[in-house]
Amino acid sequence: MTKETTTYDNMPCALCKTPLTDSNATKEHIFPNAIGGRRKVNWFICIDCNSRTGNKWDAELVRHLRPFCTLLGVKRSSGANQPFAVEGIDGKGLRYHPDGSMSLAKPVCEIKELDGKIKVNIKARTFKELESMIPGIVKKHPKLSRDKLLQLATRSKEPSSWFRGELTFGGVEAGKSVIKTCLAMLYRCGLDIDQCEHAQSYLFEDGEPCFGYFNMRDLVRNRPRQSFFHCVWIRGDSLQKQIVAYVEYFGVYRIIACLSSKYAGADFSCGYAIDPVTGKDLGLEVDIDISSDEIRRIYDYEMIASDITQTAVGALLDTWVELDRQRAKNNAINHAINHALSECGVPSIDMLTSENTLKFCAVVAKSFTKWAFPELRD
Ligand SMILES: [Zn+2]
Repeated sequence: MTKETTTYDNMPCALCKTPLTDSNATKEHIFPNAIGGRRKVNWFICIDCNSRTGNKWDAELVRHLRPFCTLLGVKRSSGANQPFAVEGIDGKGLRYHPDGSMSLAKPVCEIKELDGKIKVNIKARTFKELESMIPGIVKKHPKLSRDKLLQLATRSKEPSSWFRGELTFGGVEAGKSVIKTCLAMLYRCGLDIDQCEHAQSYLFEDGEPCFGYFNMRDLVRNRPRQSFFHCVWIRGDSLQKQIVAYVEYFGVYRIIACLSSKYAGADFSCGYAIDPVTGKDLGLEVDIDISSDEIRRIYDYEMIASDITQTAVGALLDTWVELDRQRAKNNAINHAINHALSECGVPSIDMLTSENTLKFCAVVAKSFTKWAFPELRD
């Protein structure tokens, strides 16, 4: 059943119960925009709750999912993917950027004076950052010269090509974002969210979490092999008198939430799935066939198969490695072109003359060959 209501004036906000009007109603993403969510629900919550829960609940969920969003290049309807912290193989703190490059997590500034000599070790992430650091250094160490320091600066290669990262997921705030997604989906399907007593207790009364992790069976009937998706599906079961939701993020985190155990309505099933990399809706079918006994076991962390999680993470990392190769190739081509333009003294390809076109081609070829065949580097 997928019914959409159309008139809502003076409906209460689903979270704070303030009556919604044209001036305080807002459009709420079912999945947060920052993880690639597109579909929205109107007249669900007020603008204050949108902002409050976005900054608190959704931000925490996004923080956990950020590595996947940035590594895969999730397509957001607004804003950009953000860098995230990793650790280089030498233990140094680094940041992985959406274009595949890495930088130091923070600049380094070590200055030692010994026997009248000053030993300087400054590492900045950009030339601009170096320029901004130098006045303070020169003020503290007047023997140093700003111009000399800038003259000695060299651009080094990226700090590391391998890194370690940690995947985490969970916690109260992120959990509340998961349950809000379930309620937004339920509301969008035209169903009454006030009947979800477990969700209400968890969100508003600091009640017990009403969800757990489940991957012992694949509930997605037509799971696509080559894409990663977010999915939220809700089932109302008149026989078992429960409303159960299934939420999945990137194929890795698979969650069952029991929103109500007192459901008195008719059977229904509704949901939505999106590929956050392309922004396309997927026509998935999810079969939430979960008993109340299984829900208890899910809440006790008894329904998690670690090999399924590892396989899902592995598939995601394989895709990222391939994407990373493509990004590196594009960066190398752009670098080769820009370097050749600079050597020819022109700002763009259409400014090349018949005299310097051959030189341009030779410089591009040499530069790109160095990247493609590192063993040939001198
Ligand atoms: Zn509100």
